Amino acid sequence: MGRFMSPDPGKINLKHLANPQKWNKYPYVLNNPLSMIDPDGMEELWISAQHDAFGLSILIFYLLFLGRHPFMGMYDPKSDEMVSLDQAIGQYAFPYAFDLCSPETKLPLFVPRLADYPSSVTELFKQAFTRDAITKGRPSATQWVGALTSLSSALRQCQGNPNHHFYNVLKECPWCRMEGVLGTPIFGIKITVFHDQGFNLITIWAEVESIRPTPETLAKPDLDLLTSKLVPDASLPEIIRKRRNYCLGSLGIVIAVSICSVVALAPLAAVIAIVVSLVIGHKLWVKGAAPSKPFLDSPPKRIAKL
Ligand SMILES: [Zn+2]
Repeated sequence: MGRFMSPDPGKINLKHLANPQKWNKYPYVLNNPLSMIDPDGMEELWISAQHDAFGLSILIFYLLFLGRHPFMGMYDPKSDEMVSLDQAIGQYAFPYAFDLCSPETKLPLFVPRLADYPSSVTELFKQAFTRDAITKGRPSATQWVGALTSLSSALRQCQGNPNHHFYNVLKECPWCRMEGVLGTPIFGIKITVFHDQGFNLITIWAEVESIRPTPETLAKPDLDLLTSKLVPDASLPEIIRKRRNYCLGSLGIVIAVSICSVVALAPLAAVIAIVVSLVIGHKLWVKGAAPSKPFLDSPPKRIAKL
């Protein structure tokens, strides 16, 4: 069972009154985590077969696309920003289904494309991640077993690198293409698994332990090159100018009020005036130092302690 670390911020309504499980403001998904989820801490959602099918398709995509999330790579030309995963999922914006030259996608060259896999696999990805999911339903585990089994029987070994296996219809090895872009091997380590002897953890672990880094091939990133590519935020000069104005303004107010008060006012009135000027000056200073735009993309969510 899980508990939220903060109470439910929603107001009590009829829905809450009708369900005694909702009377307590701390339980996670009404104490039923096997059947429900709560992504943002605001409302429980029943887990359906479609949710499971979505999760399964995501995991298979991770497996075939070098650990990359299927909805990573959508770009919004209007705002000149990458679309968040939440938004892309909500819009069924699966970047791999777009035209490769589309201005709405920004996919790096070192990840596979749908064309690197047979249509039996790519059609299932489209069915899982595009609006086809609404009309056709997401692919089931049985469908994936069929597609992946046929893919595994249609692989051929790369002539250039025996660690590479790819769809045998392709003219060129896609892993060689990607390694050429990356400049480093993706599959540099090969562990032998003896299928006929069953899974032996000690044997496998000994193989893992035997792997040693090869220092001559591990090039350190060039920090100077990386930092020379960094471009400062365009709003930075404006932020610096604003901060300087607020700081100078607050100092000016305190100094001017102090001098005038000492010269023209009675001692008690002068002290009061100086204190007031210090308070105003401090507020201006703090306002000038505050970030002009929030650093978080979205407000923090309620966190469940499971
Ligand atoms: Zn290859």
